[in-house]
Amino acid sequence: MTHASSLCGPAPLIDAHAHFYHALAGRSDWARVNGARLRAGDRIGVTYHVASILGSYGHTSPTYFPSPADVTAGNDIMAAFAAEEQRRVRWYVAVNPNHTAHALAEIRRGAGQGAIGVKLLASRRADDPLLDPVCALAGALGLPVLHHIWQHRTREWPNQEISDGCDLARLAVRHPGVAFILAHLGGGGDWAHTLPAVRDSPNIYPDLSGSGVDRGMLDAALDALGAQRLLWACDLTMETGLAKLRALDVIGLDENDMADIRWRNAARLFPDDAFPACEAVRVS
Ligand SMILES: [Zn+2]
Repeated sequence: MTHASSLCGPAPLIDAHAHFYHALAGRSDWARVNGARLRAGDRIGVTYHVASILGSYGHTSPTYFPSPADVTAGNDIMAAFAAEEQRRVRWYVAVNPNHTAHALAEIRRGAGQGAIGVKLLASRRADDPLLDPVCALAGALGLPVLHHIWQHRTREWPNQEISDGCDLARLAVRHPGVAFILAHLGGGGDWAHTLPAVRDSPNIYPDLSGSGVDRGMLDAALDALGAQRLLWACDLTMETGLAKLRALDVIGLDENDMADIRWRNAARLFPDDAFPACEAVRVS
């Protein structure tokens, strides 16, 4: 529970990029890892974890190119977990855009079960036309789309097509009514490349997750995009999320900008009723 003794204070805090594991993902410690995330979240002061499950995480089909059966199983488990942890977990329905009909059906099914966003598995470059029907449906349902970016194209990675900020910007311009969350500004890609690449794409919102805590990254992101375009998030490394909250404090963000990054931008991007505990703060 979020309370005054949380490491990062009592104000609402939304982790816009989280993951949970499950019994079909080939690791025996899955429940312990999930429990550790929730415990760390409570200690840090996370009000909501917005999470996805990536199929079987590579166990029975590739992480970023999961089979339709693995996508469905992962989403089922995610939906059940979010229902069980209703107080603090929300979810993205994950889809593989290579299987258009299945992806669209999963998005509809997920939205019906309470999913508040779409996690696009990075099996196609971000500007690939296969992503268009998925984004159109997400837009029609009012769901933001989370897409991974890895700028560093030093080689091809099996079952992934590496996207950079320019690729995502081309997708975003085709879907001006959809909010795109650019996954982990601090991980995988090159933020110095990403920031100018997405500066003029007002519907792209980088999340701050990723294990990179480079000096200057947060200042550069604030300079390039402003606090209203950034979402706090942890992805797999919650300690780096904590470090970034501390850094945001130290570089002197005012209370308003801090609230935007901690939760208000997320509350604006996701469906209206997604975060009731935060809305209580907004009206009080
Ligand atoms: Zn992720």
